Amino acid sequence: MKQLVNYMEAAVREELPVLLSQRQDICKCEDCLYDILAYALNRLPPKYVVSERGHVHTKVDFAEIQHEVDITTVVLQGMDTIGKRTRHK
Ligand SMILES: [Zn+2]
Repeated sequence: MKQLVNYMEAAVREELPVLLSQRQDICKCEDCLYDILAYALNRLPPKYVVSERGHVHTKVDFAEIQHEVDITTVVLQGMDTIGKRTRHK
């Protein structure tokens, strides 16, 4: 059973907690985390790789992706846009 996995999503999911841990002013609830993920992934190009039974064949280097597009900048923008929004208490 083959599946497509968006490696960009994996990269953002890995980057997000690192960046969040450096900021105290950003809401870290699940709603905001997913909003930030969606924000970033809507602005970053997808990078699909084939996965079989959870195992990814193509080895994609996070550093290589980061070199092509600035994931950090986009995630930080998302954190500023969403995490500072007082949509909920
Ligand atoms: Zn929140």
